[in-house]
Amino acid sequence: MILPALTEAKSPYWRPIKYSLFPPLGLATLAAYCNADDDIDLQDEHVEELNTDDAPDLVIIQVYITNAFRAYKLADHYRLKGSYVCLGGLHVTSLPEEAAPHADSIFIGPGEETFPRFLNDFRNKRQLKKYVSFERSIEQVPSIRRDLIKRNHYLVPNSIVVTRGCPHHCSFCYKDAFFEGGKSFYTQKTDDALAEIDRLPGKHLYFLDDHLLGNQKFAANLFEGMKGMNRVFQGASTVDAILRGNLIEKAAEAGMRSVFIGFETLSNKNLMQSNKKQNLGRDYNEAIRRLHSLGIMINGSFVFGLDEDDEDVFDRTVEWAVKNALTTCTFHILTPYPGTGLYKEMQQQGRILHSNWDLYDTRNVVYKTRGLNEQALKKGYDHAYTSFYSWSNIFKASMQHEHPKHILKHFAYAAGWKKFEPVWNFIIKTKGLNNILPVLESVLSKVNYKKKPVGSNLPQVNTSLKEQPLFT
Ligand code: SF4
Repeated sequence: MILPALTEAKSPYWRPIKYSLFPPLGLATLAAYCNADDDIDLQDEHVEELNTDDAPDLVIIQVYITNAFRAYKLADHYRLKGSYVCLGGLHVTSLPEEAAPHADSIFIGPGEETFPRFLNDFRNKRQLKKYVSFERSIEQVPSIRRDLIKRNHYLVPNSIVVTRGCPHHCSFCYKDAFFEGGKSFYTQKTDDALAEIDRLPGKHLYFLDDHLLGNQKFAANLFEGMKGMNRVFQGASTVDAILRGNLIEKAAEAGMRSVFIGFETLSNKNLMQSNKKQNLGRDYNEAIRRLHSLGIMINGSFVFGLDEDDEDVFDRTVEWAVKNALTTCTFHILTPYPGTGLYKEMQQQGRILHSNWDLYDTRNVVYKTRGLNEQALKKGYDHAYTSFYSWSNIFKASMQHEHPKHILKHFAYAAGWKKFEPVWNFIIKTKGLNNILPVLESVLSKVNYKKKPVGSNLPQVNTSLKEQPLFT
């Protein structure tokens, strides 16, 4: 089982720590369907040199858009040696006709139903060229083969996924393409999710679910069950879900200490273009206030290059993020992934520039822009990163918090993530990532914070439908 490296591994943007965070959970999940006496080697090229001198009976390769060319090369290599090669994942689902010539079998959509069906066919020598997922459920899945994961290669070995998909339909998101033809949002049984959490050693967890708070009932039961388990965890949500009921308070009580939120854009029209209607008219200041008052750090995600963006969008976004004390930010250049609504729309308008998937990494402009020209977009994107992670802005954002412990935690997390690259590289080389986990846990530990929260002295954002800005 192979997770090939993204092309970024060879680009000047490559940050070893970014790809040493999470183990290949998807492959370890599929491995659980193999027999106990099957001899499985799970290799992740982001953290280890691949051994391609072997000649296994079966090779399973997970394909993302930016590792697609590398994945096809590996597939061709193993097929020449006589191995049976399977390709699956987001990119294969989006472009099956591109992947098929490199594989003996391809997999469309999630693998929980198709992979065991394939294994059965493979053992009986009647395998199909294509397996399409229609049945969607993760209620009866066997335990993930975490024993195949080389834990010491990762900063966050305890990553976990307890749902699949997301209830929303943003036009640039892969989600709809991947889950086409069946359910696009479903959950584990709460007891199974809690049992999986219980099996994980240590304290820290990272939920890689697209939207951990997407199903209120499931999330509420999960958080209730996690109370007293002495965990600290990170996960993703939308502003919408944070404002609804008291789910976020339950999450905080269960140990949530940081949340990833796709704000994406500060413009209503851009939100409409992206089909992020679900969050229009929400009070974003209130969501941020609520998160900070619960001691939950925020990782904001933003997309540049939507049609309403102008040359000021970069400074405007960074300034907003700093003022609102976002701990970290992830910036992206808008990227029309094949299979998405955005791709279809741009293709119809003749705006797709090329199909060099290596450059579909959200750091390059791969479509004809409007409003901003290509150079300005690229330059502005680079500038946003440099500016948000400048020492002065890390300091300024940290100082928006009132509680000294919160100021320190914010500063440590943001600076630690972006300002000590050589130290991370050294730790990775010396295989010491696991030793850093207690530091992360202590940065994420609870602060009892009841006083006036961050942002209460900031100008209020008008979130009416007519006014900007609005965020998802
Ligand atoms: S909310 Fe996030 S995961 Fe859900 S569809 Fe939108 S971008 Fe995708």
